Amino acid sequence: MSLAVEIVPLLSDNYGYLLTDSQTGAAAFVDPAEAGPVLDRLRAKGVGLDWILLTHHHGDHVAGTAELVAATGARVAGAGADAHRLPPLDRALAEDDRFELGRSTARVLATPGHTTGHLSFLFEASGDLFCADTLFVLGCGRLIEGDAPTMWASLQKLAGLPEATRVWCGHEYTQANARFALSVDPDNAALRARAAEVDRLRAEGRPTVPSTIGAERATNPFLRAADPSIRRRLGLERASDAEVFAALRRAKDVFRG
Ligand SMILES: [Zn+2]
Repeated sequence: MSLAVEIVPLLSDNYGYLLTDSQTGAAAFVDPAEAGPVLDRLRAKGVGLDWILLTHHHGDHVAGTAELVAATGARVAGAGADAHRLPPLDRALAEDDRFELGRSTARVLATPGHTTGHLSFLFEASGDLFCADTLFVLGCGRLIEGDAPTMWASLQKLAGLPEATRVWCGHEYTQANARFALSVDPDNAALRARAAEVDRLRAEGRPTVPSTIGAERATNPFLRAADPSIRRRLGLERASDAEVFAALRRAKDVFRG
């Protein structure tokens, strides 16, 4: 059994994802920031849409939902805890729920920090993680509603997934993230190689997703709070990992690289 993932760029730097269960043809779309490009893709493929999966309530992840529902009859699934501020839900999800798309199954992970109700979707059999604004390639989401320990716990949950897990995030922020990462972890050879690869991809107009959990663990400073050289650079050799993470997040918020 397998899951096909197609990237659909939306707005200026958002990524939505069209998921198709290969055995049954069942299709879902993750985070429709707008409907037009999604409908264009569905029409070009000559397929319908069964589900819309929402990671969190921000407009740049949900704004196309109503139009897509009207055009396709898709049902909508998202965090029950945020039902009051999400588009109307046909299915309310929470931590450890199983969401079935044909014969593919996603495990629902609660990953609060960017927002209190933020969910991530993990298709364990194919190894695909949709983590929107929790974990970015070489970065992480801003702490809009959560505190640093909450986000750190969410990131740890994702960092503990198998290394080959593909990371499909919600935005193309990778080049800016790489500049910050290099500023706090300049001696990391894997990071330097990765930043060069990212520049090459972007110069060709190509997305930097998917990443993998293994690559993020090796190069994403927000997963590397335990790293001695990052700690030394921040002067936080004796702090807890969550404190180092909090300092990194604060530094990124004011970074102009
Ligand atoms: Zn967001």
